[in-house]
Amino acid sequence: MGKPTGFMEFERRAAPYRDAAARLLDFREIYTGHDAGHLAKQGARCMDCGVPFCQSNDGCPIHNLIPEWNDLVYRDHWREALDRLHKTNNFPEFTGRVCPAPCEGACVLGITDPAVTIKNIEMAIIDRGFAEGWVQPEPPAARTGKRIAIVGSGPAGLAAAQQLNRAGHRVTVYERADRIGGLLMYGIPNMKLDKAEVVERRLALMREEGVEFRANAAVADGHGGSIDSRALAEENDAVLLATGATVPRDLAIPGRDLDGIQFAMTFLTQNTKSLLDSGFEDGAFTSAKDKHVVVIGGGDTGADCIGTSLRHGCRSLVNFELFPQPPAERALHNPWPTWPVIFRTDYAHQESATRFGADPRVYLISSVEFLGDGGRVKAIRTVDVSFENGQFKNIDGTMREWPADLVLLAMGFLGPEHEASDPLAVDYDERSNYKAEYGAYQTNVANVFAAGDCRRGQSLVVRAINEGREAAREIDRYLMGATELP
Ligand SMILES: Cc1cc2nc3c(=O)[nH]c(=O)nc-3n(C[C@H](O)[C@H](O)[C@H](O)COP(=O)(O)OP(=O)(O)OC[C@H]3O[C@@H](n4cnc5c(N)ncnc54)[C@H](O)[C@@H]3O)c2cc1C
Ligand code: SF4
Repeated sequence: MGKPTGFMEFERRAAPYRDAAARLLDFREIYTGHDAGHLAKQGARCMDCGVPFCQSNDGCPIHNLIPEWNDLVYRDHWREALDRLHKTNNFPEFTGRVCPAPCEGACVLGITDPAVTIKNIEMAIIDRGFAEGWVQPEPPAARTGKRIAIVGSGPAGLAAAQQLNRAGHRVTVYERADRIGGLLMYGIPNMKLDKAEVVERRLALMREEGVEFRANAAVADGHGGSIDSRALAEENDAVLLATGATVPRDLAIPGRDLDGIQFAMTFLTQNTKSLLDSGFEDGAFTSAKDKHVVVIGGGDTGADCIGTSLRHGCRSLVNFELFPQPPAERALHNPWPTWPVIFRTDYAHQESATRFGADPRVYLISSVEFLGDGGRVKAIRTVDVSFENGQFKNIDGTMREWPADLVLLAMGFLGPEHEASDPLAVDYDERSNYKAEYGAYQTNVANVFAAGDCRRGQSLVVRAINEGREAAREIDRYLMGATELP
């Protein structure tokens, strides 16, 4: 513990984002630079608790050694802090940017005072590591002769690939998209996680370490140009399915087939692809410019649709949420150290308030019909609802119409697609996820494993990294009889 009185002397001051009005003019990252002196003080607020809940199961899913690197940053030992961070996290540059930081919800200081700015410190350590040239490829000293195919290149597939490659196995990652990265590439937008400078930088290192990536490689039953998953299972010693939860929840109300109603992922993927391919010159994306935009559904996906529409220059913007607005403080049934379900203002909500003078979110509202004109959506009809004892009830006399030229459906995901898993006869659980026990990751097919959102349902980058790391450990154990992977 660097400074025993740090938590009494210094207040929490999270690193600010760039000015909202300025950042709305571009798709560059929203973050500001790191100030080492400021971060040392923030690190000094860590109390080095006897039981560090921040790194327990209630906190960081990959059990980052948080008090240790807080202390090292306070003492100005950044290189050592980086080594500690990499012990548990393959990709701190991703989590340091996009993780919702359950660690901070479980921080012991958070019982009486605002939590330590753990996520800011994590991001600063890894950014400094790259800037100083401390992050170098770590190829294995020897090869085992075993071959592993990983289907899907999101954080689960990438974490598993890095771990298995470092254990000496030959790893090939198959990705059906034209770029590697899963939702890190197409999903989370550039302003939250830079593709060229942050995602590609890590992929380049992994290539140097010996991981092989194959983009435009859909794995299915071998028809229509796809790669047969049965052949992958025969030709490799093990296969890891890390295909994500990609089936979106739809909204089956009258008018759904009108033009101008899109799934959030279609909108976000096209936007990032066009940005990366041509700086939007090719026009191969749906623009929200001058449109009345309605985003249905909250969460990260909803927020990213808001942030993207604002950057296009939308005319108005509203975000519908069926559930009630969360409380400002933890509810009694939501005590520390559990994840605080409280009202949060994300980057995009702040930007919307800057552009239009108000938060875009409307709670307890249900969409009942899309209204069209000449085959295109023009408006949406809604009704207010109440929520009591787990039941929604329409409130009489509250029908409203909202102008809508572009409607983005961001209501979550139902589970993984089954193209790659059906030919292998993989079992599913009751939610249609690939059935494999947490901690074991093995499916009913002996050499086929599953990890990430395709196994647990839609979740977080940090949980995908956790599953990828652990699945790598179990695959290594399956192949070698024992494992030294964590
Ligand atoms: C818009 C959006 C924003 C988000 N923002 C955040 C955030 O800020 N913070 C956070 O922690 N989490 C966020 N999430 C959630 C997070 O991105 C996911 O939980 C995480 O990426 C899951 O990782 P994964 O590796 O399991 O799968 P994914 O990242 O979904 O990757 C799966 C990959 O498998 C590929 N694939 C699927 N089927 C096949 C096949 N048959 N053949 C070949 N390839 C295939 C897919 O193309 C995809 O690239 C967000 C999610 C979305 C949709
Ligand atoms: S990965 Fe997430 S939960 Fe873990 S230390 Fe970083 S911000 Fe906290």
